[in-house]
Amino acid sequence: MLEKTLVILKPCTLQRGLVGEIIHRFERKGLRLAGMKMIQLTDEMLNAHYAHLSSKPFFQRVKDSMMVTPVVVCCMEGVDAVQTVRTLAGPTNGRLAAPGTIRGDYSMSFQENIVHTSDSLETAAIELARFFKPEELFEYKQASFAYLYASDEY
Ligand code: ADP
Repeated sequence: MLEKTLVILKPCTLQRGLVGEIIHRFERKGLRLAGMKMIQLTDEMLNAHYAHLSSKPFFQRVKDSMMVTPVVVCCMEGVDAVQTVRTLAGPTNGRLAAPGTIRGDYSMSFQENIVHTSDSLETAAIELARFFKPEELFEYKQASFAYLYASDEY
């Protein structure tokens, strides 16, 4: 099924000059960029975004790390995009992530791990609505579509 998912390029990615390189990974895979912008996250936004971490001792530190610079928020679309994007990102701890994954190739950290990716289709819808207005997501046709998928794959 064609799905949309949220990717956030974290402040560590901007600081390290990796924005283009990381976007390139998703483009090269064949995901369609449906939306992209730079925003400054706030404590309030992060309380909602990271609510599942609120009881963790590192909660405030993780939120602070997400506010040190603006971030780039992206909407990626593709067949099974939620899981595909998670797989491309790799597991949370960059030191344990396999080479070939984004975190495996660019991160040495549990916290400073380059990207946020939505963890389910349900979460993706909630997160996309948190960061994008409907008119900021675009439905243009991807010219390569017929060469990315077999006709029974979508
Ligand atoms: P993911 O981003 O892989 O979906 P989580 O939702 O569990 O992972 O955590 C959100 C973010 O909080 C992580 O990407 C990471 O930046 C940070 N984080 C999670 N667990 C830890 C930890 N044990 N130590 C430091 N930072 C963590």
